[in-house]
Formats: sequence, structure tokens, C-alpha cells
Amino acid sequence: MRGTLFGDQIEAFEDALQYIGEYDISAAPIRFIDEKWRTEIDQFPYQMTFGSRTVIQPIHPELGPVLPDYKPLASIPRAIDPDEKYDPKYFDKLSNWAETFKVIGFRALKPNTRRGFSMNSGMSTRIVYEPKGNRATVLSDWANLFYQRVVDRQARVLEIRYPSENRKILSIAELKQKKPSNTLQEEVLWIEVTIENAELEKVNAYTGCSNCWKRTNLPLQKRYSCAACSNKECISTERITFKFEARDDTGTMAFTTFNDDTERLFRKTAATIYAIKEADDQDAFRAIQDMLSSTPFYIKVGPTQHLGQNNVLEWTLKTIELKESLDIEQNIQDTVTNFDQGKDSMEKHS
Ligand SMILES: [Zn+2]
Repeated sequence: MRGTLFGDQIEAFEDALQYIGEYDISAAPIRFIDEKWRTEIDQFPYQMTFGSRTVIQPIHPELGPVLPDYKPLASIPRAIDPDEKYDPKYFDKLSNWAETFKVIGFRALKPNTRRGFSMNSGMSTRIVYEPKGNRATVLSDWANLFYQRVVDRQARVLEIRYPSENRKILSIAELKQKKPSNTLQEEVLWIEVTIENAELEKVNAYTGCSNCWKRTNLPLQKRYSCAACSNKECISTERITFKFEARDDTGTMAFTTFNDDTERLFRKTAATIYAIKEADDQDAFRAIQDMLSSTPFYIKVGPTQHLGQNNVLEWTLKTIELKESLDIEQNIQDTVTNFDQGKDSMEKHS
């Protein structure tokens, strides 16, 4: 069956899919291919689409690039319970962790796959301070042997968790050169760009929930109970998304802004943009277009969840920041505040 990658995805999937590799692929919706796009190599009229939830796992990992050896949690043998409960004071024993890199064990951690993959501790979590057995020995030996590597990695994690005040601005070309192997899920970078040819056709104006931004068919300004976010006091409100090509001297990259970032970028409220779109007001849009092509602004970017899931690096827009004085932004914020209580919840639902 055919799977199709578009544009930047091709390079992003470079390390996740190898020629003649065999893979278990889950959560890739299978769709019908329209007659006119079908080619001779398509045995079946269907194709897979790789979305943000898709997980790709090699069947023979030894043939591909060397990746961590993940084990199902159930297959990890239980260590002898050291009878130590999860309690802040037990972490005291770890106070010098940053200098010595002790190998310790954890029991009863919960996997969390909401953003890539991580582990959460809970009340039943136990810490095993001196784990016994072959695996622990191998890991200790490895940590001693590759001490510098562990130190470097630690420095990098700390740099990303606790970034310095100065934001890191990269060019688009530098951003595209980054690889999954040297990027962390939490990493945040900035690019400074303009939009050369903003199109009104790429502006999507719709009516959505004031809390979670989910589309609704209700007329504007109706109070309703939203099924998507279970909030009973929502108002059907103008919502705007905008697709564009960001440009700097080194290249271009495609992004989408959601409601608040679109307002910030256009220096207009969602209601105003909605009206421009409804009326197909090309004159009003030309003023926005001119401003976007001549006034550079910042985009904060981070890797999508694909990095943790599939070792695939794609950059997504986190937020927009303008260079000019904050009072202009403040004006927009003041105007939109009354129907915009839910702006912080966008990340959860986008
Ligand atoms: Zn809602």
C-alpha cells in the first residue's frame, strides 16, 4: 500500500523510515485515493496518511539506525522491594546525582505519552538505590565509560529546561539542518521572518467555542454548552487560522497560526478579520499583506510530538512575537479580552 509524505515531511522522516525496512505502523488513517491521483504502482486504491498520532516502529530494529532498546513495562523483572516509600526525603540520597551519575532503579512509574514519551512518578513509586543484576551493572559500566557524554547530555537538558534570558534565534536554513538526534522534545527556538505573499484564501474564518476553539454550527454570540470541552458556559465566537510561508534570507518554512497568534500577527481582532474574510475585502487585506511582507517578526518553534514518538523532527509554531512596542499588542489584547477567556486552552485542543 502507498503512504505519501508531503514537502518537509520527506526529510523529517529520513531517520524513521529506511529503504526496504519493515515497520509496524499504527494510527495512520487509510484513505481512498481519488482516481485522478492513482498511479500504476498503486495495487489498491488506498493510501496511508501519517498524522500527528502515527507511531512507526521498526520490526527489525537492528537493521536501522541504532536507537534505545525500549521494553514493554510488563517485561521488566521486579526488583526486591527495598521497602522505601516515595517521599521527598528519600531524594536526599540523590543530592549529589549531578556529580556522580548513580544508576538507580524506579518501580511503579507510569508512562505518559501525551507529549512524546515520559515517565511519571506516583504514590506507589519506589526508588531502588543499589539495583542488583546484570542490567544495572552494564549500565553502571557504560556510565563510567561514557562519562563525558553523560555530562554533555546533562548540560544540554539543563540548558533547555532552564533557558537563559537571551532567546536563541536561528536562520531557517539552520533550523532545517537540525536532526532528531541533536534535538530534545522540550527544545524551543526562534526564527525572525517576514511573509512575502500572504493570501486571503489561506485565512480560515469560522465560528467556534470561546473556551476550546472547537468549530460549531451555531450562529455567532450564542451561549451554549460545548460537548468538546464540557464547558457549559461557552459563546460561539469568531475564530481565525492562517496558513503561510515564513521567509528569511536563507529559506522558507510553512506554518499555521491559530486564533490569538493570527490576531497578534494581523494586528486585528478575530471579529475584524472574520468580517474582512466574509466580505472578501481584498483592499483591507492588502494593507495586512504589505505589513507582513515588510515588517519582520519572531516565531517561536518547537518539535512536534513526532520526535518522541517516531524520531521524526518537524517544527511547529508555538507562538508569534512582534518586534514593535508592547502597547500595540496591549490594545489588541484589551479589545479581545471579553470574548477570549479560553485562549490558554488552545494548546490542549490543537
Ligand atoms: Zn469548547
